[in-house]
Amino acid sequence: MTAFWTEADYDDHELVQLVRDPKSGLTAIIALHSTHLGPGAGGTRFWHYPEPKDAIRDVLRLSRGMSYKNAMAGLPMGGGKAVILADAAKTKTPEMLAAFADAVEALHGRYVTAEDVGISEADMALVAKRTQYVSGLPNEDADAAGGDPGPFTAMGIYHGIKAAVRHRLGKDSVEGVHIAIQGTGSVGGGVARLLAKDGARLTLADIHHDRVEELARELDAETCASDAIMGVTCDVFSPNALGAVLDDAGIARLDCAVVAGGANNQLARAGHGQMLAERGILYAPDYVINAGGIISVTLEYLSRREGRDCDINEVRKRLAQIPGRLEEIWTESDASGVSPDQVADRMAQKLIGR
Ligand code: NAD
Repeated sequence: MTAFWTEADYDDHELVQLVRDPKSGLTAIIALHSTHLGPGAGGTRFWHYPEPKDAIRDVLRLSRGMSYKNAMAGLPMGGGKAVILADAAKTKTPEMLAAFADAVEALHGRYVTAEDVGISEADMALVAKRTQYVSGLPNEDADAAGGDPGPFTAMGIYHGIKAAVRHRLGKDSVEGVHIAIQGTGSVGGGVARLLAKDGARLTLADIHHDRVEELARELDAETCASDAIMGVTCDVFSPNALGAVLDDAGIARLDCAVVAGGANNQLARAGHGQMLAERGILYAPDYVINAGGIISVTLEYLSRREGRDCDINEVRKRLAQIPGRLEEIWTESDASGVSPDQVADRMAQKLIGR
């Protein structure tokens, strides 16, 4: 491993551990950014990185992001993340997952894992056979908390969009408000359905043409090409596909009053939050508005450890706090002239004692 502590993304992470198991071929890195508020919680990513340093950067950045996200969601959890370094063919075996699970168990609960890109619920169920420090397990009861975090993330974003519309457009309802949604998968599709129920006017885009057309028919929405969605004249642009869409070119194309969506790491770099503010666009910091999923899986984990079922009303109550947190950020931003992303970072840093 290179000297990870010289990386720009190293931010006094409490632990960065290389996990190697030659028998199964596992190479993984577990990073704990902060356990100030509780065990470091965050998913495991299974990804083929061109260079090992790319994996180090990813795990450092993602685990810090989880510290901020968990703190701002008011959860008693710190920030952690794991990456499993896949080969080019992305070979994943039960033996690898077992070796990874043993490494998580050996941390005795300092790190709590879950699914992330490349890791399915079924993979996590395998991991859970060897370690108790797992959240986001498959849930047979569709009405219960835990399990697939997508619907809970979508619900939090829906609340957040309504708060942004209230703050920027002075409207108490999204009825007739034009919202352009990029990505109609688990999160974006859920957001679209919730907004459609309230009578919002929707324009949808996804690289999966059939999927987006079917959803548009169901919701009586318009569609546009996926490379045109950022330029649609609308009230709210909601990114729910990829990260880093808010770069110089992307921001220049926007023709909206609000950016509020669930994609992780929307800002290509820190200065892009300021650029949005200078264009008069209200930004909902991604890790604040998209915390619904982590709220659900964390409450599921904590209640399981206490030997009780997770109370869905507790999850709903916490999801409903997302607008208040956003409002606090925007109010502070309006008063100080500091962009909302920077205000959120400072609030999160304070909460984790940095
Ligand atoms: P998903 O894979 O279900 O959906 C993503 C959708 O985006 C897919 O339909 C895909 O075809 C589409 N897409 C990809 N590239 C696109 C492009 N260039 N233009 C338009 N559409 C494109 O994933 P998801 O779970 O809905 O997650 C979406 C985003 O939200 C990701 O950035 C993810 O990291 C973030 N997020 C998800 C959760 C969750 O609970 N699932 C929680 C927090 C953050």
